[in-house]
Amino acid sequence: MRLTDTNKDFHTENEKLDSVIKELILDYIHDMIFIMKVENGNQFRYAYINESAIHYTSIKNEDMGKLLEEVVSTDLAKELQIRYTELVHSGVSITYQDELELSTGKQVVNESILTPIKNDLGEVEYVASITRDITEAVNEKKMLLKAKERYKSIIEHNLDAIFILDSNGIIKESNGAGCQLTGYSKKKLTNTSIYDLFHFQNKNAIKESVRKTLVGTPTTLEYCLLRNSLGQEKITHLKTVPIVINEKCDGCYIIAKDVTEHHEQNEIIHYMALHDQLTGLWNRKALDDHIPLMIHNMEEHGKELSVLYLDLDRFKFVNDTLGLKGGDRFLIKITKRLITLTNDECLLYRQGGDEFIYLLKNSSFEETKEKAKEILNLFAEAFTIDGQEFYTSPSIGISRYPADGYDSNSLIQKAAQALFEVKEKGRAHFRFYQTHMKSSFPNYIIMESHLRKAIEKEELYIHYQPQVNLSTGTIESFEALIRWNNRKFGFVSPAQFIPLAEETGLIHQIGDWVLEQVCIQLQTWRQKGYRNVRVAINISPKQFLQEELVDTIDYYLSSYNIPASCIEIEITEGAMQDTQQTLKMLKKLKKLGIFISVDDFGTGYSSLNYLKRFPIDILKIDQSFVREIGLNQKDSAITTTIIHLAHSLGLEVIAEGVEREGQVHFLKEANCQKAQGFYFSKPICPREVEEQQFVVM
Ligand code: C2E
Ligand code: MG
Ligand code: MG
Repeated sequence: MRLTDTNKDFHTENEKLDSVIKELILDYIHDMIFIMKVENGNQFRYAYINESAIHYTSIKNEDMGKLLEEVVSTDLAKELQIRYTELVHSGVSITYQDELELSTGKQVVNESILTPIKNDLGEVEYVASITRDITEAVNEKKMLLKAKERYKSIIEHNLDAIFILDSNGIIKESNGAGCQLTGYSKKKLTNTSIYDLFHFQNKNAIKESVRKTLVGTPTTLEYCLLRNSLGQEKITHLKTVPIVINEKCDGCYIIAKDVTEHHEQNEIIHYMALHDQLTGLWNRKALDDHIPLMIHNMEEHGKELSVLYLDLDRFKFVNDTLGLKGGDRFLIKITKRLITLTNDECLLYRQGGDEFIYLLKNSSFEETKEKAKEILNLFAEAFTIDGQEFYTSPSIGISRYPADGYDSNSLIQKAAQALFEVKEKGRAHFRFYQTHMKSSFPNYIIMESHLRKAIEKEELYIHYQPQVNLSTGTIESFEALIRWNNRKFGFVSPAQFIPLAEETGLIHQIGDWVLEQVCIQLQTWRQKGYRNVRVAINISPKQFLQEELVDTIDYYLSSYNIPASCIEIEITEGAMQDTQQTLKMLKKLKKLGIFISVDDFGTGYSSLNYLKRFPIDILKIDQSFVREIGLNQKDSAITTTIIHLAHSLGLEVIAEGVEREGQVHFLKEANCQKAQGFYFSKPICPREVEEQQFVVM
């Protein structure tokens, strides 16, 4: 686009140059340039517009020389007319912004500078308008403003406290949540050190976090104690975020989340997860958590750890007597006593039911032994529940790290196996794990599940131990002893599984099975023509209290056609507690015609009065006395006394557990009628009985 005709006359070199420069400036500049000739002070005629103006507006080259209102829309003309007129009057440049729709249809924001061009008289001859599209700049500004608002919003409306710190940890800004958390106003917080808000324990850690953050690494910190304006402590989780401006770190944010409530809830949940609800002791989960930690610790210091596994003897009986609630109270009383032995080195856990575990840290073999004795002593006195006295004792199995295992599982399992052995060998004492205990069941639950299936899987069978008449040397009777050979765990002693069968009630089924098997065996022997022998059957206390016992025995006797005199039942003294009931039952059994013997005589604590009142036929002297014959004067004397006592009451006596010739000699001298023990024969299977011709014609 060229300047108007009047300019054509310039032709000196300088003028040419001037013209080129003007052209460059006016035509190649991106701003739109409009130059209006002022006529009569209020009429404006197009004198010049540049390439950009032609490009972006609908004004064309041909419009030059036309009046404003002839070229643009009425509205725009009116608006411009006002501005131009104002400029003519004021003679001073003005700047304004307006929005325009370009010929392309694009909506733009323009910024225009109106400049008066005056003649020599100082009158405004031309109005020059330089209009620039500032849409982008305006948008950018808007976006910046929006971003600022957004940023402000995220800070101000954040539920977490946010503090903006300078490189010295001084708070420069904080949000509403920050005020709420600390209890201080924004004004008060500004220019205070962030470290002053936290507990001294956390100060160093926070300083370190801020230091890292200031070199560009965000960090997190858990459980920092913030002290608010009222002096209350709040548990906070902190996040530190660097403030990076122009690639340079210019302070940091600290975002503090108040987790006090959450933490308290967590504490409760955590407590509940690791503690036994009834006793408040640590539970099995805690035990599993603690053992590895302790082992780790012991390992480092070359120390040893002992696991003492306690099971209360005959707790089932207490539970049955007191009911579940009474049983719980009993357990609480026991817990209180057990707790008296605990300290930093000795921790107590409830493993479940009536089982407890002590962990003894840094303990030697001897110290562990002492502790086990102390535990046993805790049970010397009775526990009183509802005015009634109850005695119980613990059986304790012990395993040791590192000798018996390196992890929680194997240590507990081995302590449980040792405990098994304790139960088997008479309860109320302790035993350390030894390798021969290996093949046993790992625990009672597994043993019970196997025992339930033992009959149907035909894992049970009966051995017969001959009872020898000491004066004639003949065998007139046998004791039936149950055997269990489990497919997985091998042979299990009745001393182990009979108590469990009693506790779980399986004894009824097993007891019935024994009765029937013995009758079947007797029938077989009778059919083979063997001489009449008597078989003694062990009846457990629980079985003995069963009303149906008499009917059951009667039923089998008649089913297999066995005379009642071929059956003897062995009852322990313990089973004869409730005298009325016992007397009634014994009388009924006697009426059937069977023999009744008192097993393990001398080990129960009942008075001897019952011997006179109850219809008993035989006393079996417990092996513990027989074992000591010739070795221990007191036990030898007890044995002699029992024999005399039996004779004076008209009872027969059998000595159990005879293993040596000396014992046989002693018993013969003391006029003991019968003896039973390994010296004569171990319990043997029916085939062996027949082969050895014990069952003579
Ligand atoms: P118990 O009735 O006192 O049986 C005697 C135990 O002494 C048997 O142990 C027998 O094998 C063992 N024995 C016999 N002679 C000797 C000996 O010379 N030396 C030694 N050291 N031991 C000897 P077993 O068979 O292990 O039975 C243990 C207990 O299990 C029995 O003690 C009895 O109370 C119970 N039991 C066994 N079978 C049955 C049953 O069918 N029903 C019930 N309810 N209990 C049973
Ligand atoms: Mg017996
Ligand atoms: Mg016995």
